[in-house]
Amino acid sequence: MADCIFCKIGRKEIPSKIVYEDRQVVAFEDIKPQAPIHTLVISKGHFATLNDVGAEEEGLLGHMMLVAARVAKDKGLDKEGYRVVANCLEAAGQSVFHIHLHLLGGRRFAWPPG
Ligand code: 5GP
Ligand code: ZN
Repeated sequence: MADCIFCKIGRKEIPSKIVYEDRQVVAFEDIKPQAPIHTLVISKGHFATLNDVGAEEEGLLGHMMLVAARVAKDKGLDKEGYRVVANCLEAAGQSVFHIHLHLLGGRRFAWPPG
């Protein structure tokens, strides 16, 4: 997607603080962190929302979750805990329409979420 901000970050056309990258995904620091650690894990391929991901992408989604856990461990969050969030559509707070996981840590989180 030519005008998608996360596609541009994935292609390095927009700079970001990348903390992990492989063939399928990029993880980078959120520009407006909501916690001391706030990293985003995106797919390199463009899918607007979770609703647009087919069953054939099961491996990609599992990989994104494992990358979030790996980055959490790299950042020393694996013992104290962390949160992984995917917002789907406006009611959930999705603002960038390219699938991503939020990895949040370094403080306590309330439940239920706001
Ligand atoms: P959503 O609201 O879609 O679940 O999450 C989008 C996230 O992307 C937000 O936390 C927002 O701060 C982050 N974000 C939006 N634009 C940029 C950008 O250009 N660079 C980076 N690093 N993060 C961004
Ligand atoms: Zn995109």
